[in-house]
Amino acid sequence: MVRGIGLGLVVSMLGLLSAPDAAAGGIPVIAAPWLDDIALASVTSAGPVIYVNVSRCKEVGSNVCSFVRQHELAHVKLNHGSAFYTSYVNGRALAEAEADCYAAKNSLLVEVRAAVAFFEQPWIANTDIGDHGTGLVRAKRIKACRGLS
Ligand SMILES: [Zn+2]
Repeated sequence: MVRGIGLGLVVSMLGLLSAPDAAAGGIPVIAAPWLDDIALASVTSAGPVIYVNVSRCKEVGSNVCSFVRQHELAHVKLNHGSAFYTSYVNGRALAEAEADCYAAKNSLLVEVRAAVAFFEQPWIANTDIGDHGTGLVRAKRIKACRGLS
């Protein structure tokens, strides 16, 4: 998701999880134990950031977490907070599909395979996650974008 939250204070309270680096596209990655998700991109008054729930990352494993971080980075890089994506009726679903495809192309192969396996798990495979689609839809899309069979 891309969402504006009300920000500078949150950023300064949490501290950086890692320095801005190439893997995160130069975007600060911030530990966010309050986040009800693995990761979330947000545009703050200080610029874009990626929040990461470290506990959730440990649950899903570092490879899946890295894939999700790439997905969130895609939301920032592809300008998914712009009016095109937020006002076009299918814009949110398009943004999620583009973010999955970007992550599929820009993550390590081991991370892509881990993400596919994650989304193919029975508990998530047929669960409709709103604009993201079901786990199976995401797994199929990720494989197609990476050229995996
Ligand atoms: Zn997303």
